[in-house]
Amino acid sequence: MFDGHVALVTGGTRGIGSAITTMLAKSGARVAAGYSRGKDAAEALQGRLSDQGAQVSIHQGRVDRPEDCQRVVDEVMQQFGRIDFLVNNAGITVDKTVRKMTFEDWRNVLDVNLFGAFAMTKAVLEHMIERGSGRIVNISSVIGETGNVGQANYAASKAGLFGLTKSLALEMARRGITVNVVAPGFIETEMVAAMPQAVLDSVVAQIPQRRLGRPDEVARVVQFLLEDESSYITGAAYTINGGLDM
Ligand code: NDP
Repeated sequence: MFDGHVALVTGGTRGIGSAITTMLAKSGARVAAGYSRGKDAAEALQGRLSDQGAQVSIHQGRVDRPEDCQRVVDEVMQQFGRIDFLVNNAGITVDKTVRKMTFEDWRNVLDVNLFGAFAMTKAVLEHMIERGSGRIVNISSVIGETGNVGQANYAASKAGLFGLTKSLALEMARRGITVNVVAPGFIETEMVAAMPQAVLDSVVAQIPQRRLGRPDEVARVVQFLLEDESSYITGAAYTINGGLDM
């Protein structure tokens, strides 16, 4: 399906990003997966997929540092010669109520989740414009729509991705580049595993389907948005949340 295409997936070596990398690689794309600190997980994923005949490269770099974003994009261009798809998936949480949240807690989360998507987009955008085609998918969250106790920084960053997506979609609408946002609900990854069990139990009790989502259930929506046939979908938001927010 994606033979000849190149995808760059930030945070592409663990959790939801790993599922996206895997699905795209199995669909024939060459995939560059970014990571920040988890070298072992990155190498393990690359090894697994390479053994299956996929072409996957891994790139260390912090999305909240524009110089890292540019270096990663340069590495991918050197390795694969083009970038068709950018998936801005890297994200973190630092959960505290606003009363306890420090300025640093706020900035760290906004820097990775929102500024990081902006910085990585800037690093690939001119290349996509030159080629007159590209696909950008930003991974937001249901929390960006609903807010959540203890997640003001995270909710603000994820809400910001809706604004970034829609503005960029407008700016790129006549340049062959689509920009969409995917907002998962609660998905089984290490990020969710870090939540206290009692909180998790109460979250699941509020999900109409009474279960967490799986990373591959998010990946398949991303894959759909990247397909050639999805070229008329831009500025759109897709939710995947078991009915949590309708
Ligand atoms: P994980 O914590 O499992 O993985 C996060 C990924 O982001 C890792 O690959 C990590 O790299 C990378 N990352 C973190 N900080 C940086 C940074 N500064 N620069 C570059 N990469 C970085 O998260 P999930 O898979 O759960 O989440 C993926 C995305 O989906 C996030 O944006 C998250 O907000 C969003 N999301 C998740 C939901 C969930 O329920 N899990 C629900 C809704 C949205 P490293 O391995 O090196 O640490």
